[in-house]
Amino acid sequence: LTTAAQAVVDEIESEGVDFLRLQFTDILGTVKNVAVPASQAEKAFTEGIYFDGSSIEGFVRIQESDMRLVPDPATFAILPWRDGKSARLMCDVIDTSTGEPFTGDPRYVLKQALARADDMGYQVNAAPEPEFFLFEEGEDGTATTTTNDAGGYFDVAPKDLASDVRRDIIYGLENMDFEIEASHHEVAEGQHEINFKYDDALATADNVATFRMVVRAIAAEHGYHATFMPKPIARINGSGMHTHVSLFTEDGENAFHDDDDEFNLSSTAHSFLAGVLEHAPAITAICNPTVNSYKRLVPGYEAPVYVAWSDRNRSALIRKPAARVPAASRVELRSPDPSCNPYLALAVIIHAGLDGVERDLEAPDPVRENIYEFDEAKREEYGIDTLPANLGQALDALQDDEVVRDALGEHVVEKFVAAKTQEYDEFRVDVSQWELDRYLETF
Ligand code: GLN
Ligand code: MG
Ligand code: MG
Ligand code: MG
Repeated sequence: LTTAAQAVVDEIESEGVDFLRLQFTDILGTVKNVAVPASQAEKAFTEGIYFDGSSIEGFVRIQESDMRLVPDPATFAILPWRDGKSARLMCDVIDTSTGEPFTGDPRYVLKQALARADDMGYQVNAAPEPEFFLFEEGEDGTATTTTNDAGGYFDVAPKDLASDVRRDIIYGLENMDFEIEASHHEVAEGQHEINFKYDDALATADNVATFRMVVRAIAAEHGYHATFMPKPIARINGSGMHTHVSLFTEDGENAFHDDDDEFNLSSTAHSFLAGVLEHAPAITAICNPTVNSYKRLVPGYEAPVYVAWSDRNRSALIRKPAARVPAASRVELRSPDPSCNPYLALAVIIHAGLDGVERDLEAPDPVRENIYEFDEAKREEYGIDTLPANLGQALDALQDDEVVRDALGEHVVEKFVAAKTQEYDEFRVDVSQWELDRYLETF
């Protein structure tokens, strides 16, 4: 056993953990897990645990289905339920036919992005701001769209009835060593946000996967259904997952900070930002992967629609948040929503940015006006592009962009595009309530 693995085995014993939940995500970002009794810990670290990859969305065909999970000891965390008797370990997926990492494993795709950054001398930090709704459960226990309260931005109890639920979620996450920076009621009724501190991008992706699971489980204990669906209710704000990114150098300096720049952003940061802007349409399918994601990306609800950056306003795709200390200089991408696969989303964002750094791209001027109010002529004058309007357009943009295709690798592109094309096609042939209300009696 490695020292790190031995430390985990010791902790499993001293904490009295019974079950290990070995976790990974499929291409769509759903957490999958196999539980093994704690007695199997050593074996899991040395030999790995075998499973059937053909039953996992976007993995392999039935005739080549043997996969192996290898737990990453750095991800050991005791889950905040069942009295602390079960723990999660995030795993890498190995293709048993070659003994190599499986190229369809989203965690591997992100590790490749981080390896590229590392080759360029950078370590990547990322922090997400996931938003979610809490809904009442119906009598049969299924989710409704009745919000748990009528609170608004930063409201406190009794308007914000969720503060107990949020508090329990936060205690739970803190017990798992998440560093929670803030939690608050969001703009919409029943909408909430919990922010956790930036970390290495791989740890952040692992944490987002675990976060969604913990939030849903603890909300359910309180009798609520938590959803990360991007736009559960029409005509009010949807749920985003703003993603903050910065590059640090090998000696721990923030490569995005420059005291002398008007925005305190280095030329590396400007080029990174320019790269993300250039590839913005192509990364949208990954950052906004559901039909419903595009109901959020419309003007008027604090979600981005236009490809521009700003040091102030929140209608732009990328914002440069105010930073109190040099370590905090970063860029905030505002398009991702919490239905995305966090590994793939961070991978495409990082590759897009690094492409800008490698090519020394120059960022356009920031846009300080409210872009929602621009008409087409003004957008053209400013050279502002629009994000894809639906999942179909987003899939086209993804397929047309070589940098983003390479970022994902052939396997993921093929499986992702196939699964999402089918999803979009099903949506296109469906007839919605809106259409019936609008046309049934008119024509
Ligand atoms: N809910 C908004 C979105 O869809 C963000 C609101 C905010 O955090 N200011 O992105
Ligand atoms: Mg926020
Ligand atoms: Mg928010
Ligand atoms: Mg934000």
